Amino acid sequence: MSKTEFKAESKRLLEMMINSIYTQKEIFLRELISNASDAIDKIYYRALTDENLTFDKDSYYIKVVADKENRLLTISDTGIGMTKEDLENNLGTIAKSGSFAFKKENELKDGHDIIGQFGVGFYSAFMVADVVTVISKALGSEEAYKWESEGAEGYTIVPCEKETVGTEIIMKIKENTEDESYDEFLEEYRLKGIVKKYSDFIRYPIKMDVTGRRPKEDNESEFEDYQEEQTINSMVPIWRKNKNELTTEDYENFYAEKHYGYDKPIKHIHISVDGTIRYNAILFIPEKTPFDYYSKDFEKGLELYSSGVLIMNKCADLLPDYFSFVKGMVDSEDLSLNISREMLQHDRQLKMIAKNIKSKIKSQLQTLLKNEREMYVQFFESFGRQLKFGVYNDFGMNKDELQDLLMFYSSKEKKLVTLDEYVSRMPEEQKYIYYASGESIERIDRLPQTEVVTEKGYEILYFTDDIDEFAIKMLTAYQEKEFKSVSSGNLGIDEEASKENETDDHENKELLDAMKNILTDKVKDVRISKRLKSHPVCLSTDGEVTIEMEKILQAMPD
Ligand code: ADP
Ligand code: MG
Repeated sequence: MSKTEFKAESKRLLEMMINSIYTQKEIFLRELISNASDAIDKIYYRALTDENLTFDKDSYYIKVVADKENRLLTISDTGIGMTKEDLENNLGTIAKSGSFAFKKENELKDGHDIIGQFGVGFYSAFMVADVVTVISKALGSEEAYKWESEGAEGYTIVPCEKETVGTEIIMKIKENTEDESYDEFLEEYRLKGIVKKYSDFIRYPIKMDVTGRRPKEDNESEFEDYQEEQTINSMVPIWRKNKNELTTEDYENFYAEKHYGYDKPIKHIHISVDGTIRYNAILFIPEKTPFDYYSKDFEKGLELYSSGVLIMNKCADLLPDYFSFVKGMVDSEDLSLNISREMLQHDRQLKMIAKNIKSKIKSQLQTLLKNEREMYVQFFESFGRQLKFGVYNDFGMNKDELQDLLMFYSSKEKKLVTLDEYVSRMPEEQKYIYYASGESIERIDRLPQTEVVTEKGYEILYFTDDIDEFAIKMLTAYQEKEFKSVSSGNLGIDEEASKENETDDHENKELLDAMKNILTDKVKDVRISKRLKSHPVCLSTDGEVTIEMEKILQAMPD
């Protein structure tokens, strides 16, 4: 029988995964259990929307069986199963090159859970197993198939016998080596611990045959050995639990389990609303910008559940674009199960939930800014750009929502400050909020135009992001103070200056005219300026569009 080769990229990735720096092998179990749970979800969802199917809750479960003697660990489920094509398509291709490149870039950063970010969870089985066998029978299919692989070399698929619908994953656990022990993955207590740690909230029973010793029922002074099937997980989804019972670690585990990101979230928001709208949600503000965040590949959205059943992976309508970095899930009893994507967009309940979520995120960010400034700065460095885009987009419709969340680098503080902080320390006679645009802080520091403003003791906001000035144009003012570029014609600083300029201009007319002639196409006018301190010359603009904005507009594709 010939082996089908993994696609070239898959092979590379698989080798790398298996041999790379995993700090935590135990997560393979989490991955396989969540696949099993997904598979049961699918059958459950089908039954709810298909009259010909019924879902008898008791017959759906996941089972973990360890066979120490033969070093076999089996995870079986009564989920939807896989056809031959499913086995080929789902287990035969691993990640695409984009993820591969990302992995390479991040290879050296230790301590991250690397599997999660690809959705290649299944392959984590090879971290602990030499051989992985998958026996599966799909719902509605007469045949069952066996997929088998020893890792990077490829896989085989043959027909086989299996009575019931579902999937069995059988792992031949590796032998211990000098520095690595694998025996633990055959130990009952250890497996139980891993299930509890990562998969406690899985909604279906995860069963194990547990052995132990206990007092006899009829005579408590005598003991007996027992073996019985037990359900290991509590089955209560984390979002239905009481916040007080949960630790930050629980939320972080959920974040990793769900593959929301490979970082640790900065903050979680646990919402339980029980009023005119009813829903539970767990939202996360990630720490790091996802590698594709500012690309068109990035898809925003929250997972959407209807009474505990997943109905959509990325419901975009739940998040405004400017909060697109938020990850998490929403579960509501008020949504119908077989609602279509189009109908969902117009769903009143969903709109109300979205509005509610938006304000919760905003107030969480405000609290963070107020109480945990360093964390907020970290957040802003990752996602501030998106907030600024938010101000700019929709013709500034969201400016009231977002302006207090913005931060800019300050000439005075030499760090990020808010607009409120700027305005609150403005000297009384200062009319405008001054800003200077440039490529970097160092470059702006050297701008001749900043001198006259800083000499007055006024603070300048440094705009180094190309979106900054565009966003500010949408705000036009903050607390009734208008924004003013330090390179604009009239700085509103010295009333007398302009008059003096006129006489100076008059006296030096010949020189100025000569200069203007030489620079004909390059400048509109040449004038004497009182604005310069230690620099001989500077460029300034009259109109709305500053030099920096012009540069950006010119660089934009038409
Ligand atoms: P992901 O879960 O992120 O899609 P995985 O590598 O974990 O990636 O799994 C790949 C695919 O294989 C799944 O999407 C699913 O279609 C299929 N699969 C894996 N395990 C099972 C299972 N126990 N039952 C049914 N399908 C499965
Ligand atoms: Mg998976």
